[in-house]
Amino acid sequence: MLRRELLTAEMLDPGTGEPVRSTVEVRFDPLTGHSSRILPERGLMPANDFDLEAFARETQPQCPFCPGRIDRLTPMLPARIHPGGRIVCGEAVLFANLHAYSSHSAVSVYSPSLHYLPLGAMTEQLIADNLAVQVAYARAVMAAEPQSRWASVNANHMLPSGSSLFHPHLQGVVDTQPTTFQRLLAEVPAQRFADYLDAERRDGERYLGDTGRIQWLASFAPVAPAELRAFVWGISSPAELTGDLITELAHGLALALGGYAEMGFESFNAAAYGAPPGTGGYPLNLRLACRSNLRPYYRSDSTFLERLHWEGAVDLVPETVAQRIGDRFRK
Ligand SMILES: [Zn+2]
Repeated sequence: MLRRELLTAEMLDPGTGEPVRSTVEVRFDPLTGHSSRILPERGLMPANDFDLEAFARETQPQCPFCPGRIDRLTPMLPARIHPGGRIVCGEAVLFANLHAYSSHSAVSVYSPSLHYLPLGAMTEQLIADNLAVQVAYARAVMAAEPQSRWASVNANHMLPSGSSLFHPHLQGVVDTQPTTFQRLLAEVPAQRFADYLDAERRDGERYLGDTGRIQWLASFAPVAPAELRAFVWGISSPAELTGDLITELAHGLALALGGYAEMGFESFNAAAYGAPPGTGGYPLNLRLACRSNLRPYYRSDSTFLERLHWEGAVDLVPETVAQRIGDRFRK
């Protein structure tokens, strides 16, 4: 189940000419079989030293998601999806994505007033409200167009993650087609999810905790740095998240993002991979991973390996990530 192989590289030291060896561990993801390389730690992901608050002040005057502009500059949903055009819960506001990625593409801000929202300030309430509008959106699309059964809730947080706008937000996609990973995960036999979780719980090194119906762990074979995974048992689509589950998921996400903040990270991607509602044996599951910090001339964490080989390569050992974040889940 948790398969790994050690590779050794040999080279001659440029100073002494003596042979030196270094190792790379290749791990295989128990669910999809994709492989990932765990590199010796070499500081590929430096902690944030960029003045995000100053950059927030610089970007705020033109931001279309801020108060006074959001109602004028963001597109409304068609009336057949939602009569009001925008979905609101608490401070969260959801609207149509100006740059659609699918036939149903939505953006939701945690709050129009939170143009600057460092990960350490992410609260359970902000996340729960933002998830709630995404859940309402997925349900509304599925009610209007029953053939759109594949829903995901995603995040590009800060520019290095692919976000074109500074203002923190989530993105929802609901479509007739799955993405590649939605398809790969939906093809995983139900028993394999249970076996993976059992193996991780027994092993304990990467298992973060169980918040009730949701289990959290650090990925055995991460596709991206500090990758965490969560499994929501009993439902297969974000559209099936009830109020209790939204609160529980938001709780876990707030713990995880707080952990990222403590590790010095401010940019992340997230994806909750929905399968069609009612897919038997498929747990709604999500991935959450850090991205390089914003700074001039920064190094992207995404290399030829990730982009073109679909192979993770990280120097943050999953067991160390689990150690850094795990205490928050155990309190
Ligand atoms: Zn803004």
